[in-house]
Amino acid sequence: MRGSAGVLLVLAAAAAVLVGAIVGQQALRPAESEPLLASTAEPAAELSSAMDLPEGALRGSDGSGMQAPLPALTAMPAPAGGATAAPVFMAAATARPTATPLLTRVPKPTLSGPRRVGIQAGHWLTQNAPPELRRLLTQTGTSWNGINEVTINLDIAERLKEILEPQGIVVDVLPTVIPPGYLADAFVALHGDGDGTGANSGYKMAFSARRTPHEAALMDAIKAHYGAATGLPYDQFRISNQMRGYYAMAWTSNKWSTAPHTPSVILEMGYVSHDRDRDLMLNRPEVVAGGIAEGIIRFLETHPREKLFGQDLIVQLPAPRTPTPRN
Ligand SMILES: [Zn+2]
Repeated sequence: MRGSAGVLLVLAAAAAVLVGAIVGQQALRPAESEPLLASTAEPAAELSSAMDLPEGALRGSDGSGMQAPLPALTAMPAPAGGATAAPVFMAAATARPTATPLLTRVPKPTLSGPRRVGIQAGHWLTQNAPPELRRLLTQTGTSWNGINEVTINLDIAERLKEILEPQGIVVDVLPTVIPPGYLADAFVALHGDGDGTGANSGYKMAFSARRTPHEAALMDAIKAHYGAATGLPYDQFRISNQMRGYYAMAWTSNKWSTAPHTPSVILEMGYVSHDRDRDLMLNRPEVVAGGIAEGIIRFLETHPREKLFGQDLIVQLPAPRTPTPRN
């Protein structure tokens, strides 16, 4: 009996540590001043089916780089302490304080072979969007003086592939609809901006909540090298919730998104509507692609696979929507 009591004590202590860690994480991350798209996602109950993908759905021809369909999400309380020895960490928690947290564990993935990077050319092949993503069909990208953003995005994506692959990094140039649960060492969505006036200039970056602890490092690495290479200002005051809730990173509400373990960021490279920014992206694309590539390489150097994929993720899911009573 003494043995059982001891085990119980250990379990209780471990549970307390885990809960403390989660509470601490929440305390460290003040509530977002603006709601994230992810927090207005479908109710958790619907997520399980959304994540249950047909076997082999939309995989690459060789299956590489594509994670097996994610396991169905299981909404569960904080795992009983001591149940697993592996350390866990938690992606950003944004639930309202009164809501009972719904946590899910995302098992650590396995990715073998060379380092792999997904570069999404924003708006490329948007016409292939499935019915679930039909809202994207009208988002064809900005344009100015006959220059379309998608042309720039695709050109830079292909240049990145040309720069990174000789370094031994496999690059997937991805369209609007990315493979479900896309797994890679890094994912960067490329876009260009437009303000309709030609006044604004600069580049912007963002990542979503409910992801890995490594997004900030990926963003900072690209931000630093991109800024230095291009000389563009960082337009931090116009970063939108649309960027933070970017659909291709919002795995809790969209299956055509990166796997939760894939460090994922979006980069608005500059304003297509601004003369200097547009000139840079059109006429010095090697500078644009070079800056992004340097940031990605720096991130990969400091983030080996063991660091990226060595732990399960414990993620707080969006609170289920309360049905609005009629009358
Ligand atoms: Zn765009």
